Amino acid sequence: MNNNIDCAIIRDLLPLYADNVLSEESRAAVSEHIKTCEHCERELIQMQTEIKKTTQDNKAKIDILKAIKKKFFWKNILIAVISFIITVAVAIGGFNLFISHTAFIEYEDGLIWVETVNTESLTADGLTTTVKALDVICDKNIWGSYSASRIIDNDDKKTMVTYICCTETLLTKLSPKHKKEDKQFIRLVAEVEGIPSLEREIYYLIASFDGFEEMSDDEFYTQRNNGVLLFKGG
Ligand SMILES: [Zn+2]
Repeated sequence: MNNNIDCAIIRDLLPLYADNVLSEESRAAVSEHIKTCEHCERELIQMQTEIKKTTQDNKAKIDILKAIKKKFFWKNILIAVISFIITVAVAIGGFNLFISHTAFIEYEDGLIWVETVNTESLTADGLTTTVKALDVICDKNIWGSYSASRIIDNDDKKTMVTYICCTETLLTKLSPKHKKEDKQFIRLVAEVEGIPSLEREIYYLIASFDGFEEMSDDEFYTQRNNGVLLFKGG
């Protein structure tokens, strides 16, 4: 075979030889040729060097990608953990805002009033006794209520003085409004059949009534000046 033609064929085969995909026969022929042809050998070495370099470059790129992926993996875990903590904190905060953060309901005309109702209560020995009760009604959803009562001696007349106050939260504010009959939030027994009743005065007073128990009767009764009279009668 002409050596030039031989070289041309061999060089066509060199990439396949370098990639190690030649048949055994062709591979043997190329190996044989390279032993005697310096040009083709140089060409092969150059090709192998390039392949090696490309492989190393690719490996380096893959390593970088792996490192980035690993970094992002931990970053994602960190983001997930932080998100979870924030979600829990927001949920607890929201719960507190909705449930625990109570505020006094300010008095407005027509918002709170007292109604007299007759209820029946069953006594222990089976006799039914009528009880007159006073229901304090609020035209708003309420969360809770505070009250303080005391019998005050007032010019030979005994008066049961009661201060009441109610609270709301964001939850009760945003909840659908209760029906009127559900609005009673404090029931005070006014009169039990056969037992003489006391005069009553009921005031709406914004306070949690801390320390009211320690007050003297005068101090206690003076507090009414800060409140709104809701009911007065026997
Ligand atoms: Zn050659």
